[in-house]
Amino acid sequence: MDAGSCNACNTAGTPLMKLSLGKDFFGRTYDRLSPSSDQSPKWYCEPCSMMKNLQRDFRDIRTEFDKLATGQTSALSEPEAKQRAQLRLREISAIAGSQTAGSSLLNPADVKQLIDQFHARA
Ligand SMILES: [Zn+2]
Repeated sequence: MDAGSCNACNTAGTPLMKLSLGKDFFGRTYDRLSPSSDQSPKWYCEPCSMMKNLQRDFRDIRTEFDKLATGQTSALSEPEAKQRAQLRLREISAIAGSQTAGSSLLNPADVKQLIDQFHARA
């Protein structure tokens, strides 16, 4: 497999890993067979693959939070899932805030904002 360079920071000549999406933060399986959801496999260097995982969880949580905020059925309706999501957000925020590599994948300010939104609803 000729991966070339990292899909996020374009670093070449470093070990790259194909990010396996598998299940999302809420344990739902991604539809890997649907062309629209997996048109091009992405390859990332190590720091970026870590950021990509954080970005994926952040997006999942934000999507569910938006549903909750607009009164739709949300995975975050479960108090346990909501608590787990808040803990994960804090973890993401701490890691993202200390990283420079792959920072284009995740904006720490966005994470902070979502944490604040969670607090506002509590
Ligand atoms: Zn990279």
